[in-house]
Amino acid sequence: MSVPETYELGATGVLESEEIKDGIRTVRYVADDVHDFAWTASPDFLVYTDEWEHVALRLLLQPAHEAQAQRHFDAAKVALKYYADWVGEYPYTTLTLVDGIGGANGMEYPTLITCGTIYKLPGWLRALEIVTIHELGHQYFYGLLASNEFEEAWLDEGVNSYVETRLIDAEYGPGSVIDFVGLQLTDTGAQRIAYTKSSPSRGALFTKSWEYRLGDYSKASYMKPATVLHTLEGYLGWDTMREFLRTYYDTWRFRHPATPDFQNVAESVSGEDLDWFFDQFVYGTATFDYKIHSLSSRRIDAEVDGDSVSYESRVVIERSGDGVFPQSLRVTFRDGSEEFREWTGEESWTEMVFQSKERIVEAFIDPENQVLLDTNRLNNRKVTLSQTDHSLARTAQLRLTSLIQQLLIVFTGIF
Ligand SMILES: [Zn+2]
Repeated sequence: MSVPETYELGATGVLESEEIKDGIRTVRYVADDVHDFAWTASPDFLVYTDEWEHVALRLLLQPAHEAQAQRHFDAAKVALKYYADWVGEYPYTTLTLVDGIGGANGMEYPTLITCGTIYKLPGWLRALEIVTIHELGHQYFYGLLASNEFEEAWLDEGVNSYVETRLIDAEYGPGSVIDFVGLQLTDTGAQRIAYTKSSPSRGALFTKSWEYRLGDYSKASYMKPATVLHTLEGYLGWDTMREFLRTYYDTWRFRHPATPDFQNVAESVSGEDLDWFFDQFVYGTATFDYKIHSLSSRRIDAEVDGDSVSYESRVVIERSGDGVFPQSLRVTFRDGSEEFREWTGEESWTEMVFQSKERIVEAFIDPENQVLLDTNRLNNRKVTLSQTDHSLARTAQLRLTSLIQQLLIVFTGIF
């Protein structure tokens, strides 16, 4: 490429030669094992360099964002570190971060990503980190694992969004997206609420991009698959999910995996038939909301298997929606002791009966917050009257967080 000498230039690959003659800068970049390339040039770029292990980092920054150079490098290093740990090695020796202008930002190309920020972006709002980490994640889900992003966008944007949310929350904690005067929002929470609040039963993950209607593409390609995979992680456990990510990378890097390949790896790593999961939440549009319908205790003063029993308590759980997911119930007795029960979740409702010395003061389904696909978590918990004040405060807090998440989603958007 030949550009005026005063232009700074960045491109996919490794700089092989550079020559300046008669006011013209001529460069040659070479890249192996990539399926696309991009280049950029501007007389305005400020150029910074850094390194992470075997990777030479280069940042081309707009002058107005000079104060944020280190934030770009820090975010890139966070992503490289977690991806190497959770998914696999970054096999290239260069990575160029471009702070473009306007619609060019927030986009991925092999070994070159465009980021995006605003003048005086405050530290408590991690918009720059999210977009940088998201686009860097595409080096894996798009670059190395080159699925067809038009026919199966969820394998590209969706799997990337899952790892992005997990990584950002692991690195930055409960205020990973926003952390402002006590108000905290996680990336996982923001994605989940965006899914549950936008017609969750419309638009399957496995859909060709051009066949989505009514704006379902974004939800079904980003927010819903992130939520689906967090739910799969809750079911399989993080150790299995992490082994899945590594195996998927090892098996399919530099190739073009499709949805059946993704499921095959998940099944071979977990040792489970996952048709029930993929049929409902990847190929289908199943949704569900499990709720505690009622919780009651009555005094019985009886003898059961030689033990004196003072109370019989009943918990009724209801399912709405066409989706089925296994549920765990935790009940807490007045003395603070707990008991767990499992339910397949298949029927439209179930009743669980407890005979105990103490009455139940709280019933909570999915208390570990693992089934993120549940479209309404506010009804997952019920307490008896003496616990109500705390419960109302908690509900109000959840509703406020939900509102703020929705506002934030309206004002952000990354690709
Ligand atoms: Zn993306």
